[in-house]
Amino acid sequence: MSRENAIDRAEAIFDDGTFYDLLSRWVSHPTESQNETCKDALKTYLTGAITPYLENMGFTCRLVDNPVNARLPLLIGRRMEGTDLPTVLIYGHGDTVLAMDGRWREGLEPWQVIEEGERWYGRGAADNKGQHAINLAALTCILEERQHLGFNAKVLIEMGEEMGSPGLHQICALEKEALAADVLIASDGPRIDPLKPTLFGGSRSYYNFDLRCNLRDGGHHSGNWGGLLANPGIIVANAIASMADARGRILVDGLKPEGIPDTVKRALAELEVTGREGPEIDPDWGEPGLSLAEKVYGWNTLEVLAFECGNPAAPAHAIPPNAWARLHLRFVAGCDPDDFMVAIRKHLDEHGFEMIDIVPPGESWYPATRTDPDNPWVKWAVSSVERTCGKTPAFLPNLGGTLPNDAFSDILGLPTIWVPHSYGGCSQHAPNEHLLAPIVREGLRIMAGLFWDLAEDSPNSRIA
Ligand SMILES: [Zn+2]
Repeated sequence: MSRENAIDRAEAIFDDGTFYDLLSRWVSHPTESQNETCKDALKTYLTGAITPYLENMGFTCRLVDNPVNARLPLLIGRRMEGTDLPTVLIYGHGDTVLAMDGRWREGLEPWQVIEEGERWYGRGAADNKGQHAINLAALTCILEERQHLGFNAKVLIEMGEEMGSPGLHQICALEKEALAADVLIASDGPRIDPLKPTLFGGSRSYYNFDLRCNLRDGGHHSGNWGGLLANPGIIVANAIASMADARGRILVDGLKPEGIPDTVKRALAELEVTGREGPEIDPDWGEPGLSLAEKVYGWNTLEVLAFECGNPAAPAHAIPPNAWARLHLRFVAGCDPDDFMVAIRKHLDEHGFEMIDIVPPGESWYPATRTDPDNPWVKWAVSSVERTCGKTPAFLPNLGGTLPNDAFSDILGLPTIWVPHSYGGCSQHAPNEHLLAPIVREGLRIMAGLFWDLAEDSPNSRIA
């Protein structure tokens, strides 16, 4: 009975096709949460795919009603081995974005895993079925090797992540006791590079708002009225230009973080952002003086998502009556969108843009989160992955993108460790979504190593 054997077992279920078959069965559930008519598949994924798999490992499972959207149930599974043992909470989401049937490359089908070279195609393969399947499959390897886990395991699967996780925060509050743990270990999002095992601790968040300038009821002929009537398009364009310069640098102090903590700076200094598998990076864009890693993981950005005045489909020789733009802030832990709103109003008023209304979004927003690189759970996870892979993983205090991580870090109060099993070129949220087979294989090994070490060598097992 050994760590090596547990990792060998994880490799074996990849090599003999067991894991491929498991993923194929889970991907075959058409779990489109963004499709209002999709209901049964969302529930069946929990009752027909996850529950039997967990029960087979001795978990007790129950379906949890979603207090916000009844169409999107959740599942809590628990396998308790002893009150003196460390407890891990494993999270994943079984819902996907829309299948986008008919837009996939010829020969591919969204609800079928199809292997082509190193790529495993299928809707949800990367986001998120493949990722939580790797983690749950690694648990089976520990059980088979050790005959027990050596820790307590709790699993939370939601079916509404692609809808903004309605109800997740409420369930974490309501089920606080059932979900109590020492650490969250979960997987989502991309590695920093396909070849680089990666861990991250939290995520940035986002906040959308509109700038609206509504000056009059209708358009007026530009020859008769130009020079006499203010143009809302020009006003909104100038308001945006006063908030960010032509190189994307934010000009409103209240929209920027106060700084980058030293421990975060040190962790980011280790990271090389190559942009491999993506578009070419514009090195002179964004906040001057920051490294590429600091720009995307350590700072806030302001984006224009849409901007409209007049009729873009058929521009007329008229001064449009109104203009609007949707702006979007990606922000790091420590920033609060309520403060953003105050800062933007003050800034616009000081720059003569009192006629612009700021309209907050209808959707709710969540706080950004971050795990300190010096947290003992981070050090533990980094050294476990290092031991398994023979190379040092990248550690990001937070992901550039957004996850509902505050439900776990803020509501449940857990240290959060994310181990992504995908990569930037995986086409999640688009046709041709896929996993990379070598990352799946390495991911299974990494997770088997982590779960093995949880019982023997984690911050909590040492205290015990
Ligand atoms: Zn997604």
